[in-house]
Amino acid sequence: TRIPLIAGNWKMNLDHLQAVAFVQKLHWTLKDAKHEEGSVEVAVFPPFTDIRSVQTLIDADKIPFALGAQDLSAHDSGAYTGEVSGAFLSKLDVGYVIIGHSERREYHAETDEVVASKVSAALKHGIVPVICVGETAEDLEKHGASAVPAGQLEAALDGVSADADIVVAYEPVWAIGSGQAATPQQAQDVCAVLREVVAKALGADAAARTRILYGGSVKAANIAGFMREPDVDGALVGGASLVVDDFAAIIRFQK
Ligand code: 13P
Repeated sequence: TRIPLIAGNWKMNLDHLQAVAFVQKLHWTLKDAKHEEGSVEVAVFPPFTDIRSVQTLIDADKIPFALGAQDLSAHDSGAYTGEVSGAFLSKLDVGYVIIGHSERREYHAETDEVVASKVSAALKHGIVPVICVGETAEDLEKHGASAVPAGQLEAALDGVSADADIVVAYEPVWAIGSGQAATPQQAQDVCAVLREVVAKALGADAAARTRILYGGSVKAANIAGFMREPDVDGALVGGASLVVDDFAAIIRFQK
């Protein structure tokens, strides 16, 4: 059985002071609500400049949230101005890293090859890659929902070993920040195809154990519908992960 993962991608929001206040408040909100720890894994993905502060807080107050980064370099070290190595992230107890988000594919020209090299860099440093795939509105019209994300995932898994720990996030580009989420059935259909892609690339055991998240306009009002679907194992949340009460309500989803 796969433990659901609710992940908050803050994107370029919240400085390190705001981040610390946010994580403390989220922790207390869940405690006050008597949220059962362990029923759901919670992860936050702050900007790089926040990570050290959030790590220190999580460690000092024993806060049961996983810490993630929003990107990493494909390289370990060297003359790569502005980049951040997975080696540095793993030293800060970063357990997850988002790779191939559509905003990076679009604004930073990240190709499938770049994504694959970052996936292997993450795994090399013991960080679980959260591999993001998804189709644009145009792709959807031309090729249907699953062809583009399935191809992106296949490319991202090139060279990954069967025992690797990975997470996949299906994020239709048309649903991101649009307020227009996919339906639970749409999400299920594509997530089922993505699970088959994992099975083909890494084998049946990996497919059974890998969590596949849905992302794109997830909020408290629609999370339960996604979580009822057999192949949707959690959510990658953008906007609603920036409001404590909204994110807490998503974490406390009832199927
Ligand atoms: P929204 O939840 O704001 O639509 O963003 C989704 C996303 O891109 C998460 O990575």
